[in-house]
Amino acid sequence: MQFRLRTLAVFFFCLLILTLAHSAQLKKDTPPSTPILGFTPLHAAAEHQLESQFQSIPSRDKAREWHRTFTAEPHPAASDRNNQLADFVADEWRKQGWEDVTLRRYDVLHSRPRNVSLEMTAPVQFTASLREDAYDVDPDTKNPAVSGSYFGYSASGDVAAEVVYAHSGNPEDYDLLQKNGISTKGKIVLVRYSNPYSYRGFKALTAEREGAAALLIYSDPAEDGATRGKVFPDGPWGPESHIQRGAITYDYIVPGDPTTPGWASVPGAKHIAPEDARSLPKIIALPLSWRDAKPLLENMNGPEAPKEWQGALPITYRFTGAVKVQVKVDMDTSMQPYTVVEARIRGSELPDEWVLLGNHRDAWVYGGVDPSSGTASMMELTRSLGELKQRGIRPRRTVMVCSWDGEEYALTGSTEWGEQFADELKKKLVAYLNVDESVAGAATTAGPEGLSFSPSAVASLAPTLVQASKDVRAPSGKSLYEAWRATAMRASKASNPPLDSALVETRIGSGSDHTVFLNHLGRPVINLGFTGDYGVYHSMYDDYYWMTHIGDPAFEYHVALTRIWGVVALRLANADILPFDFGFNTSALEQFLRELEQKNKVEPKRLALKRLHVRIAEFEKAGGLLRSAVARDLSSGTRASPEKMQRLNEQLLQVESNWLDPGGIPGRPWFQHLLYSSRYTYAHLEFPGLTEAVEKQDWKLAGQQAALLEKAVEKNTRLLKSAQSSWEKNEQ
Ligand SMILES: [Zn+2]
Repeated sequence: MQFRLRTLAVFFFCLLILTLAHSAQLKKDTPPSTPILGFTPLHAAAEHQLESQFQSIPSRDKAREWHRTFTAEPHPAASDRNNQLADFVADEWRKQGWEDVTLRRYDVLHSRPRNVSLEMTAPVQFTASLREDAYDVDPDTKNPAVSGSYFGYSASGDVAAEVVYAHSGNPEDYDLLQKNGISTKGKIVLVRYSNPYSYRGFKALTAEREGAAALLIYSDPAEDGATRGKVFPDGPWGPESHIQRGAITYDYIVPGDPTTPGWASVPGAKHIAPEDARSLPKIIALPLSWRDAKPLLENMNGPEAPKEWQGALPITYRFTGAVKVQVKVDMDTSMQPYTVVEARIRGSELPDEWVLLGNHRDAWVYGGVDPSSGTASMMELTRSLGELKQRGIRPRRTVMVCSWDGEEYALTGSTEWGEQFADELKKKLVAYLNVDESVAGAATTAGPEGLSFSPSAVASLAPTLVQASKDVRAPSGKSLYEAWRATAMRASKASNPPLDSALVETRIGSGSDHTVFLNHLGRPVINLGFTGDYGVYHSMYDDYYWMTHIGDPAFEYHVALTRIWGVVALRLANADILPFDFGFNTSALEQFLRELEQKNKVEPKRLALKRLHVRIAEFEKAGGLLRSAVARDLSSGTRASPEKMQRLNEQLLQVESNWLDPGGIPGRPWFQHLLYSSRYTYAHLEFPGLTEAVEKQDWKLAGQQAALLEKAVEKNTRLLKSAQSSWEKNEQ
């Protein structure tokens, strides 16, 4: 204890010297010292000082430089450029002072196009360009290295058949076609990307199940084009030739390398045959611009589609009739190496507790938004944390960072890495903070409130995220917290800002690298990013020009994101007591359960959920009591021994682990979290096993799933109670 106090005194002295130079800045930037969740008052004051130092480092010019480096060339997974960027990241992290910089290699089944074509053979001849137009103002659009249209993991083949328009390609759309006497068996189905977003891999599985011969997905201007506003290069929306590439992998069943489901593709690992991979589509598929889709739609002569199916093109959308096309897709599906870059700053006191930061590196083309905005924010974050370390300031816990590969294909790099280090991560990982797109919106069209801050987090970490946002400044000049409330109010068209408890989205779907950590390893996650008008997703136009002229010309959102990411990371890394709030956690659970009952009109005689409600209430009470006991002691300055705090931290981490069911959810054993999963559309899905059973009206399975949940909640209530009593009993 004495040693610790002396260390602290020295720490404070150094901090004082180091921050004097910044003091004028600090007065302007930092609010008066306020309590921080999980910190003693003394440590909270030190943390505020440290965060002010941290926040003064990120630079808009540097963020722009990083962004240009990462968006200079197309860099899809397995390309030379993406592999060069892995070496670049590793070199930069070494220069920034990060430790244990390591390249992890995974050999995975990859998928890239050799040859694709689409031709209309009747009633008129038309060859689709499958390419995007160049614009003089943006030289990057003239780069011959830009790919044409393709979908990752499309099947290969050559088919000719009649075309049927199936709206968004959801099951109910096929039902409507059938009601109108139209079969899609053996046909080529043309569907549109839909709003709200539904993962294209779900459209592919649905078309495959319906027996279609091939699937074409096009971008209707109603969704992401001229109907929404000005198009590229004059505005954020997609022009007539923009193509939304992407993967159609069934990674909602099992993500990662399709040939190593559930284990890591380290060199020498066992691989299953691609024919046996549950996540590989068997259907041929291609994405189209609306310019390439329009001739197909306007040459149909069959029955008119209903009003809801009409898009924004100046034609009458019909179900089918007269249009025949030939689709050829030849994919190279060879094994390719993917590279995850990993680095850390070892913790000064708790090196075996890890706070992990991550962002993917691979992009469909340039990745101006997705993911290089996130990469630029991450490189500024690692530079800033590296600089603090050079000044002698290490976090108490280890901070790790990863640059993922192949996220766009099947969340592959993060999944393989998570599977490789599963045992260690289950013990050591405090939380994973993911940033995919840091700025997925146009500041130039966002209006006075600016872009929306739209993070999501497991409910236990929501209070910490809200608190941190009060100490970060938004580009509007207000605190990020105020900006967040204002844009949330704008989005909901409400006349009052939402309550703090409703600010954070605590429903978490899939579609990014947090998936393995939350759903497979049971670790808490946070996703951070700004959103707004953005219609060039996965197209060539998602590039440097878009970002520097339309998205975030001042790079102020990039830097704001670096700051909130770093402040949350530092709080988790330096907290005395990990700031998991299980009282708040359970009010979210209660809400999830009520929604499930109401949406599905669950009758108690079919499924008794009363006991689960009671268990959740008990858990909430235990969480609230523990929170108050700890907060009371922390704020009174009571000095708990490091051992005592350590014991409590371990128990808090165990609560999160207890949500895992090693059996997994029915039909998808890789997804083991009892509270969180995603639907096949990537949409969030709470109480996944229970909800899916209820939706299928399988009451027996639903009963079993409810019992599993009751048991897990009960176990955690016991754990919280025993944590509280050992905390209160042992005052030293
Ligand atoms: Zn992404």
